Amino acid sequence: APGLHVVATPIGNLGDITLRALRTLAGADCVAAEDTRHTGRLLSHFDIATTLVRYDEHGAERQRPKLLARLAAGEAVALVSDAGTPLISDPGYKLVAEARAEGHPVHAVPGPSAPVAALSVAGLPSDAFCFAGFLPPKEAARRSRIAELAQVPATLLLFEAPHRIGEALADLAAGLGDRPAAVARELTKRFETVDRGTLAELADRYGAGETKGEIVIVIGPPAHGGSYDEAEVEAMLRAALEHLPVS
Ligand code: SAM
Repeated sequence: APGLHVVATPIGNLGDITLRALRTLAGADCVAAEDTRHTGRLLSHFDIATTLVRYDEHGAERQRPKLLARLAAGEAVALVSDAGTPLISDPGYKLVAEARAEGHPVHAVPGPSAPVAALSVAGLPSDAFCFAGFLPPKEAARRSRIAELAQVPATLLLFEAPHRIGEALADLAAGLGDRPAAVARELTKRFETVDRGTLAELADRYGAGETKGEIVIVIGPPAHGGSYDEAEVEAMLRAALEHLPVS
């Protein structure tokens, strides 16, 4: 079908490709990929010969008008990233926004995404969550971002590079308090691990030595759902008073 198809691909285990993803990739006029060599290997694994064009962070401004022209010509364009769901800390947001603004159909072909996979196995509250991407690598910016996140009354999901994981966990423990957390590593792959502990325990565990692989940090919500305002405190006090034994 003509339009932009936003297609999720596996985050490690090729068995996680969906039937609709295969059908969409095979039937598209072109596949726009972050890294055409990487996606080329995925396509050839599944015997798909669709033309690959590049759509990456650096060339996006130049490449986007060409993809929009293809959509205007009635083509079916499939957008993929190296792994997981496009737009999730990956290119695609402006392409989707402009395709919509120009009135082209945009379809989701959903599938794997590392943050949702991590949330699904972490054993931490999953009713409300905030995905915050990568923390800023520079210390000052990272700490002020963590201070903002401390106010969020939900489970937090973060990506982190393996060589920074110990440092990031220590900063998170300092800025968020010692909340329950999980480090989900290499999900769906051979050496998948999910480590549970408090942020301080995990910072200790990952502080020394070298960690490899791809990581999602999952952090439980603040114990009392963030900060309370005056009215909430009053309501809680009133409720508590009702339960006091009357003498
Ligand atoms: N769009 C992707 C998605 O939906 O999963 C995420 C892209 S982001 C550039 C890549 C980051 O996702 C990695 O640095 C790592 O933090 C996380 N990640 C990707 N695959 C993973 C896996 N199999 N296990 C754990 N984390 C993973």
